[in-house]
Amino acid sequence: MAPEIKYTKLFINNEWVDAKSGKTFATYTPHDGSVIAHVAEGDKADIDLAVSAAKAAFHRNSEWRLLDASARGRLLNKFADLVERDAQYLVELESYNNGMLLNLAVHFIQNSSRSIRYYASLADKIQGDTIPADGDLFSYTLKQPIGVCGLILPWNGPIAMFINKVITALTAGCTVVVKPAEQTPLTALALAALFKEAGFPPGVVNVVNGFGPGAGTSLTHHPDVAKISFTGSAEVGKLIQQAAGKVNLKRVTLELGGKSPLVIMNDADLNVAVPCAANGVFGHQGQICIAASRLFVQSGIYDEFVKRAVEFAKNIKIGNPTEPTTQHGPQVDGEMMEKVLGYIEKGKREGAKLLTGGKRVGTKGFYIEPTVFAGVTDEMTIAKEEIFGPVQSILKFDTLEEVLDRANNTNYGLAAGIFTKDINNALQFAKHAEAGNVWVNTYFVFQPQLPFGGFKESGLGRENGIACVEPYLEVKTVAITLPKKF
Ligand code: ADP
Repeated sequence: MAPEIKYTKLFINNEWVDAKSGKTFATYTPHDGSVIAHVAEGDKADIDLAVSAAKAAFHRNSEWRLLDASARGRLLNKFADLVERDAQYLVELESYNNGMLLNLAVHFIQNSSRSIRYYASLADKIQGDTIPADGDLFSYTLKQPIGVCGLILPWNGPIAMFINKVITALTAGCTVVVKPAEQTPLTALALAALFKEAGFPPGVVNVVNGFGPGAGTSLTHHPDVAKISFTGSAEVGKLIQQAAGKVNLKRVTLELGGKSPLVIMNDADLNVAVPCAANGVFGHQGQICIAASRLFVQSGIYDEFVKRAVEFAKNIKIGNPTEPTTQHGPQVDGEMMEKVLGYIEKGKREGAKLLTGGKRVGTKGFYIEPTVFAGVTDEMTIAKEEIFGPVQSILKFDTLEEVLDRANNTNYGLAAGIFTKDINNALQFAKHAEAGNVWVNTYFVFQPQLPFGGFKESGLGRENGIACVEPYLEVKTVAITLPKKF
């Protein structure tokens, strides 16, 4: 049964309101492409209202700013309780609107509630230093919340990204205006309702659905927004940094794309490496920025690996993501499906060997078969551009030296992985890979404690870990002259 859709309006100042223009837009389920709701479409006027509410909630005398840091932590824990209470509903809604497998949505929700509790425990541990300055001075630093933060979300992990970004900002004591992705507007609203129920004061969390040009640009160009945290394409990431520079030097955190290399050495345990490599690129239908989309396999095991990889891909069960036994669901929308199919055609045209998959499944919804290409070379488009779909590209290499250079030969630098039993190879790879996250004999390790982010064009700043609260804080240095005589 389809989950109930309880909220479709904008959430501003703890109230549900229509867009000023009265406009709405349709949202779909990727399973069959049918419309499941019409959602209020925010634009500049609505962003202005939401930012004013967030600004008022940030005033020095506001309820939020007067709250003890420990009480802020308790409120966040209350929110975690409510997320856990409603987990089943949130998982179903996420799967319905996004096409995410139920199991993956469960994993994300569990990880998110761990994240909330991790950050809740940090709220009263944000502290400055006392500094031994020269002369008769008493000097110390205060770490203070930066102000109103604009949080712009992608569609591939709506709940996880919402929680991750909002919680970090609130832990620091900021207030937020969230702009969810237009493809997946629903779960953000369900989460907003839980902030209200938990007792967060009006204006602390605001959610304005809408499109990139419109709601998104109004937020990035707003002079009262102190910081933007964005997850999405590198192209839009660059626009956001430009907007920040143009208006008020907003602080910016960017989590962008990737073209991540996964290296399989001759001594790897193939029983682990084959499924891990497959999950690394077919997981969430390949719609993950850290997808292992360049799979480098050493020449001694290349043929055997390819055989097993094809076998694995052929046995993946495709179906409705809301059914628990499904292993592979749809792409998020028709546009993304066409884009991925276009890359598959390019792969064929440029001479890669298509060994399985490559086609749309059925005529309803946006399903693509798990696809395996062998004989891929570095200059092919499928080895260079981010596909964001279920396409495994297998490349051959001979030595670690060689593969390190080839793996690093990209503008991206989000993740990298290696399977080997040789500790020296693993450590050399970890040292030299140009990526924000390196995984050894595994792929995809996400925990609230572990910083995540990219080198090069994969981003700016880190999410997760204690340090990621810092970009939501300003450091204030206070120096006080001490009397010469006492
Ligand atoms: P994708 O290509 O995966 O849809 P985008 O980078 O286009 O990713 O979008 C990610 C998020 O950024 C979405 O919430 C989208 O509405 C928003 N967005 C898109 N363009 C802009 C823009 N110019 N300024 C601000 N936000 C934008």
